[in-house]
Amino acid sequence: MEQIPTLNHIMDFKGKYPRQLWYLFFSEMWERFSFYGMRGMLVIFMVSQLHMNDQVANLQYGATQAFVYAFTFIGGLFADKILGYRKSLFWGGLLMISGSIILALDPKQFFFYGISFTIIGTGFFKPNISTMVGKLYKDNDNRRDAGFSLFYAGVNLGALIGGYLCIAVANGSMLTSFVPVHLRWNIAFGFAAVVMVISLLTFIRTQKSLGIIGISPLLSMKDSKRKGYEYITYIASLAVIPLIILLVSNSGYTDLFMYIIGPVSVLYLLFEMRNFSLIENKKLIAALIFMLFSVVFWAFFEQSGGSLSLFAKSNLDKTVLGITLDPNGVNNSANSLFVILFAALLGILWIWLDKRNIEPNTVVKFGLGFLFLAGGFYVFYETKFFADANGITSLNLFTFGWFIITFGELCLSPIGMSIMTKLSPQKLQAVTMGMWFLASAYGQYFAGLLGANIAQASENASNIAKLNIYADGYKQLAIYALIAGVLLIGISPLVKKLMQDVK
Ligand code: GLN
Repeated sequence: MEQIPTLNHIMDFKGKYPRQLWYLFFSEMWERFSFYGMRGMLVIFMVSQLHMNDQVANLQYGATQAFVYAFTFIGGLFADKILGYRKSLFWGGLLMISGSIILALDPKQFFFYGISFTIIGTGFFKPNISTMVGKLYKDNDNRRDAGFSLFYAGVNLGALIGGYLCIAVANGSMLTSFVPVHLRWNIAFGFAAVVMVISLLTFIRTQKSLGIIGISPLLSMKDSKRKGYEYITYIASLAVIPLIILLVSNSGYTDLFMYIIGPVSVLYLLFEMRNFSLIENKKLIAALIFMLFSVVFWAFFEQSGGSLSLFAKSNLDKTVLGITLDPNGVNNSANSLFVILFAALLGILWIWLDKRNIEPNTVVKFGLGFLFLAGGFYVFYETKFFADANGITSLNLFTFGWFIITFGELCLSPIGMSIMTKLSPQKLQAVTMGMWFLASAYGQYFAGLLGANIAQASENASNIAKLNIYADGYKQLAIYALIAGVLLIGISPLVKKLMQDVK
């Protein structure tokens, strides 16, 4: 039988990556397969099967995404205080499996039930697996960013395969000889359930290797009392499902929810700050600044699921480097593919630069992230100069835009997770990670509003006029991203001061 390693043993690993990182990599890869597989089907399902119009479907979609990420804050909170990361992850996984099984059985009738299970499940799963990655490293281990970059490659490997496979099966462009037409959606949602089972089994089989990482924070409490708290958490998370159904299915409530959850989480953080020293609190303020900027980043980036997919559908040709491809498929998956190809390389580059003492610090990396984002959106704008008379422009150039944005994402997203684990006191790690993803919830929410504005302006316009409106919208976003990047690099000395010894 495998020995349970001590924390020191885990953290003193040789080489670039701890072996536990690979286990978490695979659990997360399957979870993201399930998540992005399901997410990639939602809008199409709502329009084609639930007969919603485009606008309603977009709003509903935005609401589900905002809620998914908003619940990571709550999932993080319960993990820190009651369940510990491992039980949270396990519980989240079970809820996600239940959600996908419900959808696989009867997606039309139980749509919002299935989605709500998935929302809560992701809330318990997603922030806590990311926090555990951070726990594999000593505070000053400079291999941490590279670890998060590798982990992020796992995220995107799952996203790439799941995002393509599920919708392709549902649309009848894959496995048609095995899947009867009337069961296409059921089977596609069923895939999400099956891979989530694999994710959970991977975790169960390997969790011993994590030693004490992620075990209950209440071990000093009497067994019966601790179990009591745990059961209350499980029951409460099930009891809240009808409320989630109500909130998600009425998008008016989404606004209200979003007005409340952000300020409440910040107030909660301020409230927690009373327990920590000035030094720790300064670091938490730095973390808040990163979160704030990340909202802007995701609001632009997440145009991918909304306005950019409409743009891809109407205004792009169908070839990349001479190969015929579906422009929407490219819009969905090019970014994930580029992350997989370049995440490890960038991780190695950071280590290489660090050895020569010229690695940019995290604030500057974030700033660079915005500059890449600006560059990518500027390329999207440039596509309008390559259009034919019908307003159809180059998918090649569009893909190049995603190539540039991917580097921006890699400067911000995996590094953002990494820095959250560094800036947060031990006791508050999952809440901080939850708030990091909560910032994504706001990004998703604002992305919907921004995208809706662009789409609204182009209503009833000709295809070429549409192209111009979208492209000009992206130029605006490029300018704002540029300003954010310059601002962040400008204030980097100040943020660095707040971060103190953290790099
Ligand atoms: N694509 C990444 C993931 O799924 C980041 C998501 C986000 O923070 N918005 O993990």
